[in-house]
Amino acid sequence: MRTPFIAGNWKMHKTLAEARELVAGIRNGLTNASGIDVLICPPVQLLFPIAKAVLGTKIMLGAQNAHEATHGAFTGEVSVPMLKDAGCTHVIIGHSERRLLFGERNDRLARKVRAVTGAGLTAVYCVGETLAEREAGKTQEVVRPQVDEVLGRDVQSERLVVAYEPVWAIGTGRTATPQQAQEVHGFIRSRLGSIYGPTGAANIRVLYGGSVKPDNAAGLLGQPDIDGALVGGACLVAADFLAIISAASEAFSRQ
Ligand code: PEP
Repeated sequence: MRTPFIAGNWKMHKTLAEARELVAGIRNGLTNASGIDVLICPPVQLLFPIAKAVLGTKIMLGAQNAHEATHGAFTGEVSVPMLKDAGCTHVIIGHSERRLLFGERNDRLARKVRAVTGAGLTAVYCVGETLAEREAGKTQEVVRPQVDEVLGRDVQSERLVVAYEPVWAIGTGRTATPQQAQEVHGFIRSRLGSIYGPTGAANIRVLYGGSVKPDNAAGLLGQPDIDGALVGGACLVAADFLAIISAASEAFSRQ
């Protein structure tokens, strides 16, 4: 039984005042979230104050990236122990914006995932194909090494969440259909099975991300291998994020 998981990736948005308002909105509206894990990932300057704002609630705190070293001369970077110190329990690794805009490749992401899980935090590890790759029929060819080259038995499955985020659906308003998403989620779970065995793979949450909104969440979350959502744009508005959490709660209570 996998606990449904709804995560918000705030990206580079929100000042402190705006963030406090957003968290207050989520906190106050979070009545329909029993049995759902809820995570928010604000930008790094907000982690300490937002850790205080979510204290005593069920909202967990995550970061959007981390350096693989614990400390050192890496100007502008933040390490996993520092994020843990700030109250994070999760770190997003390998978001397509990190891969495409900041040149992060599988070998580096493998080190980052291990830095996160080795420090006792959970990695929300992202995979997904571009539009050109999908149109060329290469989705599985792209996703397979993203899984196989980065994950392994030395990454504890209890500290791992995988997010399938087709690049063509991120921030575009164009969502994968529930069937398209389920097909890739099923493939990811089979790859996880080859690493962790069927029981291990059955316990790992695989989230869908890419223009998840209140009006399309139920269809996606109703699929058997979709265990939640990684939400970008819609997590910046409390009412929308809450509506996605409610949709998850309803979808999973029906299963
Ligand atoms: C994301 O950035 O992880 C994401 C899924 O964004 P959006 O929901 O805006 O497509």
